[in-house]
Amino acid sequence: MAAYDYDLFVIGGGSGGVRAARVAASLGKRVAIAEEYRFGGTCVIRGCVPKKLYVYASQFPEHFADAAGYGWTVPEASFDWRTLVANKDKEIARLEAIYKKNVEGAGGDTFHSRAVLVDPHSVYLVAEDRTVSADQILIATGGRPASHPALSGHEYCIFSNEAFDLKELPKAIMIEGGGYIAVEFANIFHGLGVDTTLVYRGQEILSRFDMDLRRSLHETMEKKGIKILCPAVSERVRKTPEGRLDVLLSSGQTLTVDQVMLAIGRIPNTENMGLEGVGIELSKTGAIVVDRYSRTNLDNIWAIGDVTHRVQLTPVAIHEAMCFIETAFKDNPTAPDHDTIPTAVFSQPEIGTVGLSEDDAIKRFPDVEIYRASFRPMRHTLSGREEKMLMKLVVDGASRKVIGAHILGPDAGEMAQLLGIPLKAGLTKDDFDRTMAVHPTAAEELVTMYKPTYRVKNGERV
Ligand SMILES: Cc1cc2nc3c(=O)[nH]c(=O)nc-3n(C[C@H](O)[C@H](O)[C@H](O)COP(=O)(O)OP(=O)(O)OC[C@H]3O[C@@H](n4cnc5c(N)ncnc54)[C@H](O)[C@@H]3O)c2cc1C
Repeated sequence: MAAYDYDLFVIGGGSGGVRAARVAASLGKRVAIAEEYRFGGTCVIRGCVPKKLYVYASQFPEHFADAAGYGWTVPEASFDWRTLVANKDKEIARLEAIYKKNVEGAGGDTFHSRAVLVDPHSVYLVAEDRTVSADQILIATGGRPASHPALSGHEYCIFSNEAFDLKELPKAIMIEGGGYIAVEFANIFHGLGVDTTLVYRGQEILSRFDMDLRRSLHETMEKKGIKILCPAVSERVRKTPEGRLDVLLSSGQTLTVDQVMLAIGRIPNTENMGLEGVGIELSKTGAIVVDRYSRTNLDNIWAIGDVTHRVQLTPVAIHEAMCFIETAFKDNPTAPDHDTIPTAVFSQPEIGTVGLSEDDAIKRFPDVEIYRASFRPMRHTLSGREEKMLMKLVVDGASRKVIGAHILGPDAGEMAQLLGIPLKAGLTKDDFDRTMAVHPTAAEELVTMYKPTYRVKNGERV
């Protein structure tokens, strides 16, 4: 083993890669990590973190409006996009430095370079023009927004990467896509005062989430003033003489906007990094194929996170990194557990969800109980805001286990984190019923829905 420069070389300094490098180094392994852009990866630099900061920024107009009912007079507010971008930049630079320092502090080497595989034990560092060798190699190169070369005028479109750093806030934007990134950005831009249209090819936004939540969020977003056009796709984008963009939709409608953002999926970063040459198996979509322990078809090469196209979330990449460490360095083979992952959509209102949707539960269980409450949260009473909160528990009638929990409303993401625990533990509806409510909260509804709203037996609602 000593014949190699390193025990472990990690390619990609994002959520998964940094965690694996830091922990392996802290175990005394000789570790190096290469990052071609900025340490912290998608999550810190152009994903979760800046996104959430922009969500906060976009919520202030509603807070100002709601304040009146509580007796406050808020003078006319104004917003400066450049201040937000500059402050966001400061914060992510701070986090980026911490990520890098944590690896170095644990004893790992960091390289600011693109890394390319030369053979199963050698990595070429482009910026350094040199090759290093390693016993084990971990690929954690993440993904990037899918482009749309077939769209005429695609060169005028931006992606989430660019949306964070626009020089000017557009007056009007069209966002194409129906996943969580498209929906979150639609809410962000709308909250910041941008005339926003969401265009999605499916029947309803946010496929894979519970249909109740999808419909309710759709309705609420429209009430706020976000235009949602689905099913529809853009067919052509053209620059107008005034420098704006005309988008022709499949419906025949034309939109005139200042920016078109495509959020139509993400693809794994596996090109031009020597993978095919070394013989690493890729899927049809270009993702690295791994076994249940995140090992590729080559014994000493592993892959975790978005590049494997399993579940594309930061905590999942981190969990896969920790399992990789157990397997590769602690002689304790550990397969990542992708079951019952709590998650949030930072829309306005927010979605928090864990477990099976009603539709999926009905497909898998013959007797399903649905507990559903729709109510105006207390904070919206004095403010006069009409928005309702939706809470729903999906229960397997036979075992009484709670197999799904879905929330739409303020702080739903925070609640989903806590609901993840009883669902992961396989607790029953009776356990929920035995739990004392915290009053007055919105979350108390989760333990006070005693009677099923309806049941679905063998696909029939009874
Ligand atoms: C807009 C947006 C919002 C998101 N919001 C959330 C959220 O709210 N919650 C959540 O859980 N997840 C969210 N995600 C997803 C989350 O960011 C990813 O799942 C996570 O970052 C994946 O981590 P990773 O380590 O697999 O890859 P990444 O974090 O993408 O890191 C990969 C790194 O590898 C580098 N790299 C690539 N190729 C090479 C090479 N050849 N040599 C050297 N370096 C290379 C890249 O520059 C990158 O820094 C969001 C993503 C986006 C785009």
